[in-house]
Amino acid sequence: MTGSRNADEVLLNLVSSQDDSLVLIALYDHDDILRYANKSWRAAFHLAPGEQPGWGDLMRRNYHAGLGTVLTTRNFDDWLVSTQSRRGKVPFRAFETDLVDGRWLWMTETVQQDGWMLCIASDITPLRTDDRRLRQDRDLALRASQTDELTGVANRRFIMTKLEELAGRELPPDERMKGCVAVLDIDNFKTINDRYGHQSGDQVLLDFARHTHSFVRRFDCFGRIGGEEFMLILPDTELNAGIHMLERVMERIRTTRPLTVLPDFAYTCSVGITAVRMGDSAQDLFARADLALYEAKLGGRNRIGVI
Ligand code: GH3
Ligand code: MG
Ligand code: MG
Repeated sequence: MTGSRNADEVLLNLVSSQDDSLVLIALYDHDDILRYANKSWRAAFHLAPGEQPGWGDLMRRNYHAGLGTVLTTRNFDDWLVSTQSRRGKVPFRAFETDLVDGRWLWMTETVQQDGWMLCIASDITPLRTDDRRLRQDRDLALRASQTDELTGVANRRFIMTKLEELAGRELPPDERMKGCVAVLDIDNFKTINDRYGHQSGDQVLLDFARHTHSFVRRFDCFGRIGGEEFMLILPDTELNAGIHMLERVMERIRTTRPLTVLPDFAYTCSVGITAVRMGDSAQDLFARADLALYEAKLGGRNRIGVI
């Protein structure tokens, strides 16, 4: 950990010297808390000097105030879940984005190994605009190919790529293998559909994705792998901490009441979790988590199976 802390300090020192740069510069930590933003960034996103909000909180504040980034969504929470499901989960991405004040920015996001993210944006308003619509369409298509349409969280393709990355990662020889993978499955979902209708089933899926997503840190990845089955990847979490987190998720799920027409309706989920072991392939991890889930179902549902 010392190595990465040094790397963060080096980066922090480096960007701190850019306070007056016209280029917009910001640094977010692995929990997506703003650690540094220069004056240009602060002006564009309406941050007070020294203010260090979480990324989601700032986006929410600006959205409601009509400031900062142009967001065309009618439901901010839907937008936030979908965006957070992809934000900071690839080492590098770049895109065009426009601000309410009419400026266009070319934004790059570079994520370090420990999850700190350096954001650099240049004002490209005066550049040729001919292909802008085309580029935006491309970005939208890319987003759609990574997102589950119903719930807005990562889709199977995206999370399976993350699982491959987790299995294939190389750790320094002195570092212990860590991380865990969980499969989550809503209990008796078929009965929910049969009894209350497919639309209510969809409401339950949305509710489940929303609540579970709220526990997921930027470093983690959560996605829908099919039907009423989801996967959670926790790359730097020990098994016991993962179990603890999932117990809190399950507790939240037990207490939510997703159907407005049926205020007493409640549901549960079962979870299978497994720790990453040396030499695991993505298939090994998925198969073990799935087996653990099967045991949780056999054991009576509404519980966690651990393998
Ligand atoms: P268990 O507790 O063992 O997990 O039982 P279950 O009923 O939850 O599982 P089962 O696999 O028998 O049923 C899953 C159901 O999920 C069947 C399928 O019709 C339904 N389903 C799959 N995708 C969707 C969807 O997008 N929306 C809705 N409403 N239902 C879906
Ligand atoms: Mg089920
Ligand atoms: Mg299932």
